[in-house]
Amino acid sequence: MDSVNGSSGTSGTSSASHASDSASLGAQAEPSAAQTREDELRDALESNPDAVAALGALTAAPSYAALSVEQQVEALNAFAATPNLATATYLQGAAEQTLDPQATPSALTPDAGTLTLDGQTYSIRNGELIGADGAVAGSIRNDGQVQLNADTAPRSVYDDINTRVQLRELGPDQQMRDLVNLHAADPNGRLDNANINREMARLATATIAQARREAMDMRVVSDFRSVEEQNALYAQGRTAPGRIVTNATGGSSWHNYGLAVDVAFNDARGQPSWPDNAHWDRYGEIAAARGLEWGGNWRGINDRPHIEYHPGLGAGEARTMLPGYRQGGLQQVWNQLGLGAR
Ligand SMILES: [Zn+2]
Repeated sequence: MDSVNGSSGTSGTSSASHASDSASLGAQAEPSAAQTREDELRDALESNPDAVAALGALTAAPSYAALSVEQQVEALNAFAATPNLATATYLQGAAEQTLDPQATPSALTPDAGTLTLDGQTYSIRNGELIGADGAVAGSIRNDGQVQLNADTAPRSVYDDINTRVQLRELGPDQQMRDLVNLHAADPNGRLDNANINREMARLATATIAQARREAMDMRVVSDFRSVEEQNALYAQGRTAPGRIVTNATGGSSWHNYGLAVDVAFNDARGQPSWPDNAHWDRYGEIAAARGLEWGGNWRGINDRPHIEYHPGLGAGEARTMLPGYRQGGLQQVWNQLGLGAR
């Protein structure tokens, strides 16, 4: 988070905008520490009009004018450290542009709002979680770590991919809106399927957890597919009704060896959907960074939901696994790839 705000890329132009700012201040000789800090924030948030407007609202408030300079600086620092929706939007944009894993909106805490965690809703005030009875029930940090009074240690709301998380913020229009809305990513336990290789499951889980840190609400929709099921799927759109969905015949898809998984995005009701405007590219980037091959990089059928794992082999070499599979099943295939026991 700091790296995003700190490396805004606008530093080259900041001195120019500082000069024009102080010119417009007229007679004032030395800008106060608060004015300097405000200018810095305006530079950092330059590309985010919503955040600049939120900053303007803060500094225009009569209660702000009544503060001492030290208190004003404190208020500005608090504004910078506690992202609101505008900042969230900015960070999201930064993450998309840079594809820098550091520059992710992983650490978004609204200054006021609610957190729903596995069905329990807490109000948030300045990082404190307030239960329905009005008592402080725990805390939430900017990195997504939550600690409830009953917990012995903080836990990340993103790491358990089946935790239902809804983080809402009170917007400038006084309406509550979602910052993060995450449904269970594997409600059918597909990654627990014994026919899915454990390393594949681990990498898929890590990919989804990272996507959740970036507020992408992903869900596993298919896992292992037998050779016979693959042949039936291949027939679809060719010798059977439906649209063509695969170019792989039985034995030539990594799904047939428990080494591929398909995902979707959850819609607002938690149902799988494949919106064109979802952040598929970012998902592919996250998967590739973990050594998975992403179907979105393929020519021919561009298979954006699909990830697969076959260290040392290419996507098109799945078929070379078929003899081993016929002989010794999935375990032999995984042994051949050095993936060990499931
Ligand atoms: Zn697939």
